[in-house]
Amino acid sequence: MKISSNGRMCSFCGRDDANGTQFSGELGALICGDCVERYHNILAAPSAPTSTVTADPWQSMSTEQLLATLPLISRSSAQTSDFLITSVGVLRSRKASWAKIGRSLGVSRQAAWERFHRNYEEAPAPVEVLAAESVEQAEPVE
Ligand SMILES: [Zn+2]
Repeated sequence: MKISSNGRMCSFCGRDDANGTQFSGELGALICGDCVERYHNILAAPSAPTSTVTADPWQSMSTEQLLATLPLISRSSAQTSDFLITSVGVLRSRKASWAKIGRSLGVSRQAAWERFHRNYEEAPAPVEVLAAESVEQAEPVE
């Protein structure tokens, strides 16, 4: 899925969209064209060393190298969190209940509401959420 690059970054190398970089991705992870090519070459190499697949990359990094990655990891995490917030917002605009959203995330409807409701203009009190969705609770689990 091609994704708008406005304010985005590659989840693999940290490149931002300053130079018109385009991204592909899903589930909150984005990848730039250079990384697609790089990882394609790694995976397509007939003699790819297995250590590149099994070793955690941070194990071979110096402390300074690892420290330098922290801001990128933090930005990538925030970007993924934004995707989650946006997805929940789309579901709410489609009238998906907090109970359904909570079930999808493996949490209660109250926990889902508490985690996400501040991101949207809607902000019913918890008691109203419980009352409005109480009918749904009697529905069979999908
Ligand atoms: Zn990249």
